[in-house]
This record gives sequence, structure tokens and C-alpha cells, in this order.
Amino acid sequence: MSFLDRSARALFLTDLVKGLKLTFSYSFKPKATINYPYEKGPLSPRFRGEHALRRYSNGEERCIACKLCEAVCPALAITIEAEPRADGSRRTTRYDIDMTKCIYCGLCQEACPVDAIVEGPNFEFATETREELMYDKAKLLSNGDRWEREIAANLAADAPYR
Ligand code: SF4
Ligand code: SF4
Repeated sequence: MSFLDRSARALFLTDLVKGLKLTFSYSFKPKATINYPYEKGPLSPRFRGEHALRRYSNGEERCIACKLCEAVCPALAITIEAEPRADGSRRTTRYDIDMTKCIYCGLCQEACPVDAIVEGPNFEFATETREELMYDKAKLLSNGDRWEREIAANLAADAPYR
């Protein structure tokens, strides 16, 4: 520090002590960061993540093929085909979502009269290829089976505010 004059040295030391004090004080505070992906932060029950098609507890699909979600989707990401079953109920024969078009607006979920299509809590569904983001009915139903517990809890938590 020979190149510094006396007042500059004093200033330098003052700042150094201030910096060390600040660093030391943070040693005892809760960490602001988490060790993702091993730790994850809390998510709102309204978080809009990966889509899923839900079933009733008896295994029957909730979707009644009304096509409201398809009609409301501003990104035209949903494609549905349907036909009546032997028992007269109407079910989808095709339910596709092009996840590369989806803007995660949540309107499909809002429009659904039977809480069938939902945006679940999963946000870790990055893929290596575009094709993997073309979801079909089997993929959406398997998402629903996988996340049903969390989805049902989130819907119940949000219900009082609707
Ligand atoms: S979240 Fe919005 S953009 Fe995505 S599929 Fe649903 S309605 Fe369409
Ligand atoms: S997911 Fe819901 S809104 Fe879409 S077709 Fe099925 S029942 Fe209708």
C-alpha cells in the first residue's frame, strides 16, 4: 500500500473492516439461496406448471369431452377428438397439448367444468427434443396419476378464494 497516502489508507482500512463486519453478520442469518435441485422452494397452490388430466378415485377419467378448454385456449395448443362410448357417455379419443405453443395462462383449467385438465405443480419437464413436448392423452393422464395428491391439495387450498 506504499502508493497510497495516509488518508487513502485509513479509508481503505475502514471499508475493509466494514466489509468484514457485514460478511460476518451474514454468517448467522438464514441462507437466501437453496441447493437446487436437491432443495426446492415453496410453490403457491396457484402455480401453473405442467398440464395433467385427472381421474376420479374409481379410475374413471374426469374429462367429459365438452371441448371448452380447446375453445378457450388462446394459443390453440389443445386438440380434442371425441365420440360416445357404448354406455352413452362422451369421452375423448384424442387429447393433445402442444406444449411448445402453451403460454401457461391457465384458461383451460379455469374453463373446465369438472376439474379434469389442470396445470399441476411440476416445473421440471424440460426436454431434449421438441417432439417430447407434444403431449398426448396417455402422457397427460399419467401426469394426473403421478401428481394427483399434490393437485388435489392445491385445489382444496385455493377453493376458499374462488
Ligand atoms: S394454459 Fe393457456 S395456452 Fe396453455 S393449454 Fe391451457 S389455455 Fe392453452
Ligand atoms: S378437460 Fe374439461 S374443459 Fe376440456 S374437454 Fe375435458 S371436461 Fe371439457
